Amino acid sequence: MAFQVTLIPGDGIGPSVVDSAVRVIKATGVDVEWETVFAGEEVIKKEGTPLPEYVLDSIKKNRVALKGPITTPVGGGFRSVNVQIRQKLRLFANLRPAISFPGVPGVPFEDINLVVIRENTEGLYSGVDYWVDEDQTAGASVNIITLKASERVVRFSFQYAKEKGRRKVTAVHKANILKCSSGLFLRVAYEVAREYPEVEFEDRIVDNMAMQLVKKPQEYDVIVTTNLFGDILSDLCAGLVGGLGLAPSGNIGEGMAVFEPVHGSAPKHKGANRANPSATILAGALMLDYLGEKEASQKIYQAVGNVIRKGTDVTYDLKEDRNDPSAVGTKEMTDAIIEEIGRM
Ligand code: NAD
Repeated sequence: MAFQVTLIPGDGIGPSVVDSAVRVIKATGVDVEWETVFAGEEVIKKEGTPLPEYVLDSIKKNRVALKGPITTPVGGGFRSVNVQIRQKLRLFANLRPAISFPGVPGVPFEDINLVVIRENTEGLYSGVDYWVDEDQTAGASVNIITLKASERVVRFSFQYAKEKGRRKVTAVHKANILKCSSGLFLRVAYEVAREYPEVEFEDRIVDNMAMQLVKKPQEYDVIVTTNLFGDILSDLCAGLVGGLGLAPSGNIGEGMAVFEPVHGSAPKHKGANRANPSATILAGALMLDYLGEKEASQKIYQAVGNVIRKGTDVTYDLKEDRNDPSAVGTKEMTDAIIEEIGRM
């Protein structure tokens, strides 16, 4: 029986990289029936909102979605659709693997294999933002950390480590300064860690963690942290393995998950057949793993790795010289990945 999955093409480069992921998933032979719904900039005119209720209903019904990036206006305008989806569907864990692909130019290491798990619903992204004075010369954003959400994401991280055969969980915080919010997260992490004696546990202060990740990322395995720290550290890790073009993510809740690339809608590349499709294709691989299609998921990782190692059919961002005229487009790199899958 086919898997029913919600498909949200998104804004900017979204529709083209999402199309790549759909084609690659089809090539693995896994039977997916896509229910395509639209959210983002383009639907505001028609629906009066960037996130129509039927988009959320579709995800709630199918329990799984693959999503392209959605534009968020800076400063004013609508609230981030991405944040709204995570909060409204209580997708509390944001999973961001950072795995080296040998052959990526300009990266300092080729042996990184870690996962950042970021609390996805609260912290500084709780939406409690206000002006402190009438003249708007001072602003505040409240960092709400709860026992329930901390416990949920830390337990998810240990469970994930155990199921995936990973050896260590590192909790990242700033408990020395943010004693109530980060302090609570750290205390909960130590409490949950006691339930998983088979998984090694340690903690790191976020600023030190940033430096450690740049110097010796191989020492880390599963990193769990609060929303803002996770947002920043996971982009740092994406940079360590080759940039946003290679970084997939999964937003996971109770029996429901939305998979997407880490990168944004890159409006300047819209319709240019230039964007690297790998992050969205790998998000598709994470989705297949989540659905229990582990072999198909691994095939996709391997096929993307093979194409990158060969280095011929890759987009501009995977070339030593970003102006290299031999770089191929989104569609051609996707074709090469599909060809690799066909050879397996
Ligand atoms: P961005 O990720 O869109 O772009 C950052 C840089 O990376 C740009 O130089 C871009 O050209 C490049 N880039 C991104 N994806 C690429 C790809 N697949 N291949 C090659 N190069 C790629 O980030 P931004 O410019 O800060 O944001 C643009 C919009 O996307 C904003 O409205 C932002 O709010 C939104 N955004 C959405 C999500 C999401 O939907 N989850 C995530 C991040 C940003």
